[in-house]
Amino acid sequence: MPEGSYLYCDVSLPVPLDQPFTYGLPETLRHRVRPGSRLMVPFGPRKMTGLILRCHDDRPEVATREALRLIDSEPVLSAELLALGKWIAGYYCAPLGEVLRGMVPLASEIRQGKVWSLTDSGRDAARQLLLGSAPDDPVMQILRMLEKRPLSAAYLAKTQPLADKAIRSLEKKGFIVSEQVQTERDPLRAPSERLRVELIKTAPEGKWNKPERELRAFLELHPGSHNLKELEDAIKNVSMAARSLARKGVVSLKAEPMAINAGPIRVRHALNEGQQAANDRIVAAIRKHEFHAFLLHGVTGSGKTEVYLSCIEAVLVEGRSALLLVPEIALTPAMAGQFFSRFGDRVAILHSAFTDTERTDQWRRIRSGAASVVVGTRSGVFAPVKNLGLIVVDEEHDGSYKQEETPRYNGRDVAVVRAQAAKACVILGSATPSLESRYNVEREKYTLLELPGRIEARPMPKVSLIDMRVEFLETRKQGTFSRKMLEAIGEKLENGEQTIVLLNRRGFSSFIACRACGERVQCINCSLTLTYHKRDRRLLCHYCGYAEKVPSVCPKCDSDHIYFLGLGSERVEEELHQAFPTARIARLDRDTVTGKRQYETILQEFREGSYDLLVGTQMIAKGHDIPNVTLVGVVSADIGLGMPDFRAAERTFQLLTQVAGRAGRGNVPGIVLVQTINPDHYAIQMAAAQDYTAFYQKELGFRRMMHYPPFSAMANILVRSEKKEMAMRMSSDLGMILTAPIEKLKIMGPAEAPVPRLKNEYRYQFLIKAASRKTLNELLQRIRNYAIDHKWGATALVIDVDPLTLM
Ligand code: ADP
Ligand code: ZN
Ligand code: ZN
Repeated sequence: MPEGSYLYCDVSLPVPLDQPFTYGLPETLRHRVRPGSRLMVPFGPRKMTGLILRCHDDRPEVATREALRLIDSEPVLSAELLALGKWIAGYYCAPLGEVLRGMVPLASEIRQGKVWSLTDSGRDAARQLLLGSAPDDPVMQILRMLEKRPLSAAYLAKTQPLADKAIRSLEKKGFIVSEQVQTERDPLRAPSERLRVELIKTAPEGKWNKPERELRAFLELHPGSHNLKELEDAIKNVSMAARSLARKGVVSLKAEPMAINAGPIRVRHALNEGQQAANDRIVAAIRKHEFHAFLLHGVTGSGKTEVYLSCIEAVLVEGRSALLLVPEIALTPAMAGQFFSRFGDRVAILHSAFTDTERTDQWRRIRSGAASVVVGTRSGVFAPVKNLGLIVVDEEHDGSYKQEETPRYNGRDVAVVRAQAAKACVILGSATPSLESRYNVEREKYTLLELPGRIEARPMPKVSLIDMRVEFLETRKQGTFSRKMLEAIGEKLENGEQTIVLLNRRGFSSFIACRACGERVQCINCSLTLTYHKRDRRLLCHYCGYAEKVPSVCPKCDSDHIYFLGLGSERVEEELHQAFPTARIARLDRDTVTGKRQYETILQEFREGSYDLLVGTQMIAKGHDIPNVTLVGVVSADIGLGMPDFRAAERTFQLLTQVAGRAGRGNVPGIVLVQTINPDHYAIQMAAAQDYTAFYQKELGFRRMMHYPPFSAMANILVRSEKKEMAMRMSSDLGMILTAPIEKLKIMGPAEAPVPRLKNEYRYQFLIKAASRKTLNELLQRIRNYAIDHKWGATALVIDVDPLTLM
């Protein structure tokens, strides 16, 4: 790190603008600033924390303001990570300040509060207005309160239900100003993400304010306990409402149970021949201290984890560090336990379900070098390890590596870029590699390593397709289960073996409709039908969380001929109970699992044999190794196929192959029954044959013909507004600048998005395919600049590079 004394530094701030801001440095900071450290600076009337990009003596042309305070004496972002952040901002067309903020999970250290006080003109106004207007006007109330003393924004929001709006109008008039202040953390007042809120059964009635009423109504419709933070989107000011209702005895607030325990200790296996060969290739590359990317394609149950462990060991022997990324749902105590038992307290875990404080602790341990093996989900790719030797991305095809908010990066691809810059190796592992990654083998970017067989030569499960159209013709019944499926489940129950039943859709019925007028009950915020959840007797929107009671008559024509259509996992569970009254059945989906703990508990109890049957959505398909599972049943393989998305076939293939891979991992061979009405579809056929190569070839041909990735660089542009005309106008304005004939680009749109309205916003879409990254990136920068120049709201434009969802 260059020592020295500087007059200025360029700071990146978490604002939607790209350029860094130059600040002058006071005498006391000139010797201490370093790139990668956080600096508190004035920004407009506020104080903000930004990251120092550069320290220098180049006098800027315009006058600068002075930096206020240096937060870190040692940089929190190394030069390596700063460079990675810049790459992400460029590639994903995202504001650098927001990217960098997301890379440093230390928000808990600088908890800031806003304090409002009156300006001189505000003081005058208060005096004049107080004579005239209504005393319960929120604007007046706030002026009156602030006349006595400055107050925190949090306090105002708590005491004044309409504070938000009143404050905005007062600020606009120049009557009040805010100041950011540092506040100490009060351990008794845990942050929302650490709290669960639940309605108390004997809750008293009373007069509540709007957020309190909304929270109460929400809890009545959504029984059980909820993470407070997760309710923020659904209910305004929910945190305050929950705390005040807790004081009044209406709800209970309890600490979120967290912390990963060590989990079961697993034995260490001697590598078999295939594992050894893969290990040797990778370890040789690691020892060369050069970048090398491997795609480890190993069928389900081939023992990929053991290869990861032995490669990580080789990295540690060299005195370097390793990162292992796993999909969101896969980071269970079982997974973490394997790492603890092999590497002890050198392991740090970074999980998005951790609280700020927990994450900060882990982050500090990594930064200090105390932890040299990091297991983490997506954002773990930014772990500040020193001397990186290896990054492993397990289940590299998994969609949870893609962040679905700005910056919309893919952790797997960022891992490759980071490894490359650090002269480290990277292993992408999967039984069903993404087309993009597999194609990179052909382009000689990645080296393919294969584990074609299961451990101890266990057979792959035998998959049979059941044509449900034929079943219907033969039985004249539209049953959930075929006769063959019921028979097989019954047999396994007899034998004391376990069964997994997959239906990749939550709820009981996917929608309800009226026979008289054809109306389908839709969400009030989204152009989507509501799903019927029987246990809670409510209709629920799976996208925005809106819930309502089940109507007894049609909301449109009052007819009582309402009927329920489509099948969900809840109904599958119920019908299994009816068919097998003595079977012990557990269900795993987003409705039975509200906390991370529950997910692990259900899985653990199933593993221990407390249940015979496990029913669930795609959650049950991922990575679990439960030896006593000998039957996997798929109720409907067709659910994902109809999606308006060019990856529909790939996702279906991956899901079916992965869930089939849960069967027969012990001594008894596994069988898989797949019910479908598309038995001739190639994704279903090839998943049944568990023939990845055939699927890859076929799908690649389709992608090539259609110029879809990996044969083009793709981006999805969304234009959103709560007002339909506004969204339409903005998208057609944007369309104007995109029509000029541009070589090597294909632009589809503007068109209504497949879900035209979501979370109360109207959405228009452009899908862009480009022959080269450079062409695409230039166009995207133009689009972004257009939005900035035309002062579009912060959320109006979404640029999604390499999109995984096109809805
Ligand atoms: P994958 O992730 O490839 O589906 P896992 O890594 O879960 O497979 O391994 C499958 C099972 O095989 C695990 O129970 C693991 O402990 C076991 N296993 C892995 N390697 C060996 C080996 N060399 N000898 C015996 N058992 C092994
Ligand atoms: Zn009707
Ligand atoms: Zn909705």
